[in-house]
Amino acid sequence: MSWNAYKLALLREMGLTAWVRRDGVPTAEEADVQLRPAPAPVQDEAVAAPDAPWLPEPSPAAAVSVQGRRAGGVASMDWPALRQAVASCTACKLCKGRRQTVFGIGAERAAWMIVGEAPGEQEDLKGEPFVGPAGKLLDQMLLAIGLAREPGAPNGQVYIANVLKCRPPHNRNPEPEEIAQCEPFLRRQIELVQPRIILAMGRFAVQTLLQSQEAIGRLRGRVHRYQGIPVVVTYHPAYLLRNLPDKAKAWEDLCLAVHQLGQERRATEV
Ligand code: URA
Repeated sequence: MSWNAYKLALLREMGLTAWVRRDGVPTAEEADVQLRPAPAPVQDEAVAAPDAPWLPEPSPAAAVSVQGRRAGGVASMDWPALRQAVASCTACKLCKGRRQTVFGIGAERAAWMIVGEAPGEQEDLKGEPFVGPAGKLLDQMLLAIGLAREPGAPNGQVYIANVLKCRPPHNRNPEPEEIAQCEPFLRRQIELVQPRIILAMGRFAVQTLLQSQEAIGRLRGRVHRYQGIPVVVTYHPAYLLRNLPDKAKAWEDLCLAVHQLGQERRATEV
């Protein structure tokens, strides 16, 4: 498939208008594209069912600090140990309100890594990141670049994780202390996955990985680095559901990431 035909397919997968000739006759390139049916429209996360009750904070003494424990191990954990450490984490108050932790999903070694913010209600129920409406849009975006989240799939070259592994109450923003406690887990996931490109989705992923307070609009469009790994910044899918015109920008960001991954691959071939 040519690059133009590829871009056309990408646009359509993301639900963006793809212009065709007025007479409706496909160009040679368009005819080359094997398009899947248009995805069903996704609903805004804000319409989710009411939250679970929120419980009082544990005393600071009761919380076992990941920051401290990391010195004793997170940084050298393998996948099973890391999974277990996350599942039993009580380092911040979010442990009191969760149904379960949401670790991550995808291939344990993958070229792509997607980093989101925190589990919502659906994710807290299922124990898997991005399974609500925003996740459906993310799946469409991944499909558009030939990726699928299922670890065993032939196109399963992606790992998806969040900054926080526990759901914040009422889907509120993560707090700095919660991010600080959870960040060693994400860092170790990235070390184990060894991605060639990271897509940071939304403000909290961007702030955590890049240690920058700049707005996404100012950071997108160029390649950043996290421990030497290229990072492309883009809008969070939940934001895109509320701001449909910005889907075009997210598409540009995906193209930038695809392009950068190609460059990384070529650079290591020589
Ligand atoms: N939003 C996120 O950032 N992560 C999820 O897992 C779900 C919604």
